[in-house]
Amino acid sequence: MLYSNLSVNSLGHLTIAGIDAVELAASYGTPLYVLDEDRMRSKCRTYVEAMRSYLPEGSKPLFASKTLCFKGIYPVVESEGMDADVVSAGEVATAIAAGFPAERLYFHGSNKTDAEIAYGVEQGVGHFVVDNVDELETLSREALAHGITQKVLLRVTVGLDPHTLAAINTGRVDSQFGVPIETGQALRFVRQAINTEGVEVEGFHSHIGSQIFEPDSFCDQVDRLLAFACEVRDELGFIARTFNLGGGIAVPYVESDPKVDIAANIAAIAQHLNEGCTQANYPAPRVLMEPGRSIVADSGVTLYSAGRIKTIEGYRSYVMVDGGMTDNPRYALYKSAYTVLNASQANAPADFECTIAGRCCESGDRIAENISIAKPEHGDIIAVLATGAYNFAMSSNYNRVMRPALVMISDGEARLAVRRQTIEDLLALEA
Ligand SMILES: *Cc1c(COP(=O)(O)O)cnc(C)c1O
Repeated sequence: MLYSNLSVNSLGHLTIAGIDAVELAASYGTPLYVLDEDRMRSKCRTYVEAMRSYLPEGSKPLFASKTLCFKGIYPVVESEGMDADVVSAGEVATAIAAGFPAERLYFHGSNKTDAEIAYGVEQGVGHFVVDNVDELETLSREALAHGITQKVLLRVTVGLDPHTLAAINTGRVDSQFGVPIETGQALRFVRQAINTEGVEVEGFHSHIGSQIFEPDSFCDQVDRLLAFACEVRDELGFIARTFNLGGGIAVPYVESDPKVDIAANIAAIAQHLNEGCTQANYPAPRVLMEPGRSIVADSGVTLYSAGRIKTIEGYRSYVMVDGGMTDNPRYALYKSAYTVLNASQANAPADFECTIAGRCCESGDRIAENISIAKPEHGDIIAVLATGAYNFAMSSNYNRVMRPALVMISDGEARLAVRRQTIEDLLALEA
């Protein structure tokens, strides 16, 4: 199996963290999001420990909330010693409702509204990651109105192309996120920020993209951030205490993807940073990282029931499932590859070539194309692996399909963390 928490039991059913997937589907219904909490915890620990051992004191990972945001995730993140980043009032409110300390939140977003900035300050959000000069002015006004000094990081773009998908590549000069170093604007941004009342600049943030397999891009990012920090020191006399490197470490979704060693990536980043700082005689800043995908993606599995199976003679066969782009829009958005299994016949040969289609009136509603699985019977449970990141978070009610429930597994026990949406939920907002 692609992931170590998956196995097959004596009934020939797929098991997830020791629990029969077919039984889970019977108990909670389908489609169903399943999250293996223990596996997620082990990812958190890998980050916390590697960052603690290789990077300067105070370095730690923040969980990128946007990947999977619901109340039940925050006690896990908190107890593993991670902080969290959030990108909207909704994410701030969810974290706080779950009892997560506001002081440990980092508030992101290229277009935070004035109301969101006010709300974040009121709630005592520990750090703002300021994206642009306009935001700086609003934040300063709010901080002064509340009689506080708001700690901030300034988001800059290092001008790097990590050769990932254009849609998730955010570090280039021409981007709606952050202020570019290359054009000289980032230096002016820092000058203005350190002279702004009510804010205290702690350092810089940059995020270069997502699903990055090799440490080289992160090492380049560190080099460029450090060169920028030295320029800032020489021009303005300001020393950054924090570098936030964003997220982006990849996860293998299919067998042919390379394996990823998170700790080795962190060690490579640390070596670059430490050597770079020594060479430049720059006091080593603490490092923050914002992993999302690599914390939760491969701890998640989505279970569907196989419905109609249709063969278009001379072309191909379709297995239609009771969810699709409404619970997982990633294939429609990015043509993302997934590993799909017939969980009801997990030992049978995977020799039925098919395309897994969703239930929406949209020919792009697919989960995987031209894959091979054990030939399903109507009602078999179809498992799609590594759906923990950007699935629940990106779900929609298109075609008025209701959002699935989400179940968390820990210590061999499953529990409902988010209940299935109902027709009443759907209609509740309408006059
Ligand atoms: C998306 C994003 C992340 C998380 O990226 P992953 O690839 O999921 O680790 C972290 N920080 C910022 C600013 C992001 O936009």
